Amino acid sequence: MIAQELPWYTGEDTGMEPGELHKAGLKATSARLRILEILREEQEHHLSAEDIYRRLLDAGDEVGLATVYRVLTQFEAAGLVARHNFATGHSVFELDSGCHHDHMVCMETGQVVEFLSDEIERLQREVAAAHGYELVDHSLVLYVRPRKDS
Ligand SMILES: [Zn+2]
Repeated sequence: MIAQELPWYTGEDTGMEPGELHKAGLKATSARLRILEILREEQEHHLSAEDIYRRLLDAGDEVGLATVYRVLTQFEAAGLVARHNFATGHSVFELDSGCHHDHMVCMETGQVVEFLSDEIERLQREVAAAHGYELVDHSLVLYVRPRKDS
């Protein structure tokens, strides 16, 4: 049973209504599990719905693109995945690990790089505090291209 390999994938944690799971039936449930698996195993971490759809096709899974979109939207609502709308085109999705990080996106290759800078984090808190605020959350995306001199 695949679900047992996903300790955080329980009916309660997903926030999905039991009725909805029921209505979706076995095929939709296996689609959900497969999409979770793909997001978990993917080295790139950040996948568009089309990327996921292509991987399902390659693996011989009969899941339509509309289903992939629907499942991703459900996962997002349930807090299982984070959606990023980078300015490069399609939304990309990653498992929401609960660990904060920022992203940079290569404008030439579309490669998404995760990073975390304690200094940037601290500066953001300081800037918010200087304006009389407490930092609650932030998202930071750097749009980059490969250095020509490296
Ligand atoms: Zn990320």
